[in-house]
Amino acid sequence: MVYANGWFTGAKTPEDFAKKAKEAASCGFKALKFDPFGKSYMGISNKELMYSIDKVQAVRDAIGEDIEILIEAHGRFNVPAAIKIGKELEKIDNIKWFEEPLPPDNIEALKRVKKQSRVPIAVGERMYKRKAFINLLSANTADIIQPDVSHAEGISELKKIGSIAEGMYIPFSPHNPSGPVACGATLQLAAFLPNFNIFEFMATDISCRDKLTTEDLILEDGYLVIPDRPGLGIELKEENLSKYPYEPVMLKHYKGMTLFLREPKAPLDNNLCLSSGIYNPQDLARNPCC
Ligand SMILES: [Mg+2]
Repeated sequence: MVYANGWFTGAKTPEDFAKKAKEAASCGFKALKFDPFGKSYMGISNKELMYSIDKVQAVRDAIGEDIEILIEAHGRFNVPAAIKIGKELEKIDNIKWFEEPLPPDNIEALKRVKKQSRVPIAVGERMYKRKAFINLLSANTADIIQPDVSHAEGISELKKIGSIAEGMYIPFSPHNPSGPVACGATLQLAAFLPNFNIFEFMATDISCRDKLTTEDLILEDGYLVIPDRPGLGIELKEENLSKYPYEPVMLKHYKGMTLFLREPKAPLDNNLCLSSGIYNPQDLARNPCC
């Protein structure tokens, strides 16, 4: 099963989030992740907190109880703010997780947040190699781990990290807001890790994504079909790579700058969501809904 990220691009108000969430739900997604916290950093005002919670509640009211909500903090808060936010999130039904409430470099601080949060804590996208995850899990600071195949040293290392977590009955939900190569590698992990929990899937992406590889993912009723082709299930379109060179972008978190990369271009075309609940994400990338 996947959770959608990026479905909310362009949303600012609770009403915007509710509208976008309904659109995403109409595509068959059974779980939605978003960051409702505006520009807050290392603290949050009561006004901003309540407005953030209004966005979460608006999404819950829009999509009903059956679709899971995952809350992203992008590692931006201090301990008291994270605890305060966790207490408010507890009041909303069925929040699957509260992701990266703190920056990723202090396990003792995270332990303080985890002890006071009834909402499960998901962390790990900026941790490297199995030793970091052994330290994290040994300190009982994570309810779900999120290693990234690009950061934590590839498929083999993630397999070991996943197995360590499995032995501690901790779900494995890798970080994957990634391009087609990392996405293909992450998807292979879903094929064999018993504690694989849920797959991150970007509902929108940059327009050249489908020109770089032969990626041909199929999302079926909220589940991504694992390709059975050799290797990662994709081939590079090498003849096209030089047409889309790497361009460094100075992204400043908490200022919405990560979102302009996936700028909204067109309203959701429900024709992309076939009656069977199946659609090709590449079609959606060409006609992004959010
Ligand atoms: Mg994250």
